[in-house]
Amino acid sequence: ILRNTVQDLKGNIRVYCRVRPPLDFEASKPLYNLNVLDACSIEVEKIELLNSARKGKPQHTFTFDGIFTPHSTQEDVFSEVSQMVQSALDGYNVCIFAYGQTGSGKTYTMEGGSGEDNYGIIPRAINMIFTCIGDLKRMGWDLTIKASFLEIYNEVIYDLLNSCKDQLNHEIKMVNSKGTDLYVSNLKEEEVKSSHDFIRLLLFAQRNRQTAATINNERSSRSHSVAQIKITAINEKRKEKFTSNLNLVDLAGSESGKTTQRMDETKHINRSLSELSKVILSLQNNQSHIPYRNSKLTHLLMPSLGGNSKTLMLVNINQFDECFGETLNSLRFATKVN
Ligand code: ADP
Ligand code: MG
Repeated sequence: ILRNTVQDLKGNIRVYCRVRPPLDFEASKPLYNLNVLDACSIEVEKIELLNSARKGKPQHTFTFDGIFTPHSTQEDVFSEVSQMVQSALDGYNVCIFAYGQTGSGKTYTMEGGSGEDNYGIIPRAINMIFTCIGDLKRMGWDLTIKASFLEIYNEVIYDLLNSCKDQLNHEIKMVNSKGTDLYVSNLKEEEVKSSHDFIRLLLFAQRNRQTAATINNERSSRSHSVAQIKITAINEKRKEKFTSNLNLVDLAGSESGKTTQRMDETKHINRSLSELSKVILSLQNNQSHIPYRNSKLTHLLMPSLGGNSKTLMLVNINQFDECFGETLNSLRFATKVN
């Protein structure tokens, strides 16, 4: 029984690695060696010129629940992620994170690029939810979908659906009722009746985020962006009801900051990312105290991390030689939480 419990817990956290392809204008950048060993492992090795001979430095091997290579499409990624969306439709709370240094493909993975082929996890998830609503309705389930969008920057939460520009910078207080149920007060939640409705809100939130980023253009890479989809399902005949949350999180860039001006930001980011890994680790180890309250992100996601919930982390890396150090950091982070 003990073994099963451990396996169940393990089964609730999945970690994937995604390697982004170089873009056209990056074609001449030197790459480090990256070998995909099998469906779940990669080996990375920095190449250096020593006495005019190319010599490899020690290799590092990392294992995941799955690898997406530079050739993997958005559809390939979603074919794995869709199980998590299904879990949210089955009543589980779900968190999906994109982790990695700035420029590694987090936003492409979560939101995507232009054109349907480039749609990322968020638009695909919402399309899947609205496709399933019809089938569930025939089975007697009525679903209500609500969406909220927020940004966490320097340990302050900003509501991205708040249309009033002045209010964009207001902190939102978190209220904890009875230690379990937690909500963000004043956070705007809008009901969405179609994928189109949702995308309209997503674009609105992105514009709001952009407005803040124009004033401080590093902001978007230095903040966490969270899309929350709340599913409420009611079955009148069976007198059953459940609510689940699907949290889609584009994390702040994991790179260690170099300039002193941004030391404060870097401290906040590194702290909230390490607090996230601490929470995941203590859940994995079945510890009695989970340190949710040490950062805004884990506090906000508290109801959706641990307990009856599922987590998926996509660790995004690129293959440029100049990124080797940051790549190792990301891969080590992934190994720690896996
Ligand atoms: P991040 O959000 O981690 O800073 P982005 O998602 O903005 O990184 O990705 C950096 C650039 O690479 C963007 O122009 C993005 O469109 C592109 N890109 C990222 N991943 C892929 C991919 N798998 N295929 C094609 N282009 C990608
Ligand atoms: Mg981004």
